[in-house]
Amino acid sequence: MTADEQVDTGPLLDALTEGAKQWLDAHDGHRPLLVGIHTGGAWVAEELHHRLGLDEPLGTLDISFYRDDFSRIGVHPQVKPSHLPVTVEDRPILLVDDVLQTGRTVRAALNEIFDYGRPASVALAVLVDRPGRELPIAAEVAGARWDLPAQRQVKLDGPDPLTLTLH
Ligand code: 5GP
Ligand code: MG
Repeated sequence: MTADEQVDTGPLLDALTEGAKQWLDAHDGHRPLLVGIHTGGAWVAEELHHRLGLDEPLGTLDISFYRDDFSRIGVHPQVKPSHLPVTVEDRPILLVDDVLQTGRTVRAALNEIFDYGRPASVALAVLVDRPGRELPIAAEVAGARWDLPAQRQVKLDGPDPLTLTLH
């Protein structure tokens, strides 16, 4: 058994912010949009939004109804409204989540985004990228890429302050 471990989010958020800034610079002039996935991803997106001093409002997505594996992971969906404040049509989107593992959450988020319209492109930014992909999904931007064994869990608490615990 491994003891719980408190992780300093500072360096992770710095790396994530730097990567997000590069993505924003590369899409400058095309109305890039940040969209966070409830709940941890929305917290991380808000932090990025603040650090990058963006004017454009953030979008948030709740993907509870879109996940394809609730029975498998034993989650009881708690639906919160999605909120995309502006059109996604023809815009580059940076989708933000706290942890990427199987990729099923991101797959569900893509479905929901495309219900709103057709973006120019979608890239993914996560605070922690870990192994275990079950779909062809990758994070273009990551705060950290940790080769965690399957039995370890990353837990983000927030929103202020954002804290990470490794269980
Ligand atoms: P995935 O759908 O990629 O398997 O899981 C990612 C989602 O599960 C994220 O939205 C995240 O909020 C949540 N999550 C948080 N910590 C962990 C973790 O340690 N492992 C996994 N699989 N998911 C986590
Ligand atoms: Mg989540």
